[in-house]
Parts: sequence; structure tokens; C-alpha cells
Amino acid sequence: MLEAVTAESAHRVLPPAPGAEQHLALDFANSAVALPGGQFLELLGTPTAATEWLAERDLAPSDAGLRDQCAAQLRALREQVRALLASRIDGLPAPAAAVRAVNEALTSVPTASLLQWDEARGLHRTPPHRTTQIVDHALAVLAADAADLLTGPDAERLAACASPPCNRYLLRTHGRRHWCSVRCGDRARAARAYARRNQLKGA
Ligand SMILES: [Zn+2]
Repeated sequence: MLEAVTAESAHRVLPPAPGAEQHLALDFANSAVALPGGQFLELLGTPTAATEWLAERDLAPSDAGLRDQCAAQLRALREQVRALLASRIDGLPAPAAAVRAVNEALTSVPTASLLQWDEARGLHRTPPHRTTQIVDHALAVLAADAADLLTGPDAERLAACASPPCNRYLLRTHGRRHWCSVRCGDRARAARAYARRNQLKGA
């Protein structure tokens, strides 16, 4: 079990899937990776890991001080984005909850100190909590990129990696198989050769 893996060590394990460097949303969707041998790479598992992931993509300062709840919010949006990618790839209706989650992230960016009233202080304005502001902003950027990707010209090229147990998404390049990496392609070829050998033995 690989826990709290840094983005750097994740990159060594698996380079970004095709398209993930152009589309932040694809990169985001692939931030939890199922690896062979039952291993699972979770890049947003802890507040520290999530901060690092955001900072590397200029979505947050490295001292953003994310809390558990912030990392959980990111993971929740990621699952909704994955659900949207899956439905788009399979030609199924977009899940309503996923559409709602993306729209909520798109529209919840705090832009101003809000007017408040309470008995002790009367009317006053409260600036949004800095960390909340950072996280809401990152969620909005990720949601906007997901919405753009899903409705843009590249949506036609979206695919799921066809090498189990890999769960990454990618953009297909013309004529290529649906593998997110050389590693996944090699594993798929090895699995096919193994199946062929067994078939010959059985015949
Ligand atoms: Zn793969």
C-alpha cells in the first residue's frame, strides 16, 4: 500500500497520461491510480499531499495550509469529474449529481467579504477564510477545465486506459491503442501473450 505518495515519486512510477499535461481536469481525474498488485496511488490522500499537488499546478501557494476537509473536497470533486468522463466515454447520460457538483464548484468562488449581522457586532463584513478561498478557487479552476474538456473538441478523443487494473483516463492519439503509458501497454501485451500460450496448451 503506497500512502501519501508525493507527486514526484508518482511521476517516476507513471508519467502523465496522454492529454493530462494539456488538460488539468484529466490530470486531476488521474490523481488516484490503481496499480498492478493491488496497489493504489492516492495523490490527494492527505492535506500535505493535496497542497503539494495543487502547488505544483500553480493552483495554491505551497503554504496554503489545507485541512483534511479541503483534501476531502478535492477528492469528492475528482470522483464527480471521473463519473462525467466515464459517462462521456461510454456515451451514457451525464450523472445529474456530477453535473451539479461541477456547477457548484464553478459558482462558489468567494469574491468579496460578505455582509453579516449579529447582536454583538451589528452589521459587519467577514472576509472569506484564506484557505477556504484558496480551495474554492482551485475547485473552480478544476471544474471549469473539466467542463471545457467535456464540451470541447478533445472530448471525442477521451478514453479509459484499456490495461487493467489501470483506471487512468487519456486522450487517444490517432491509431494508437488506449493505453495511458508504455508500462500499461507492455502489461496488456504480456497478458495477451500469456492468454495465447494458455490457449495453445489447452488445445
Ligand atoms: Zn494505464
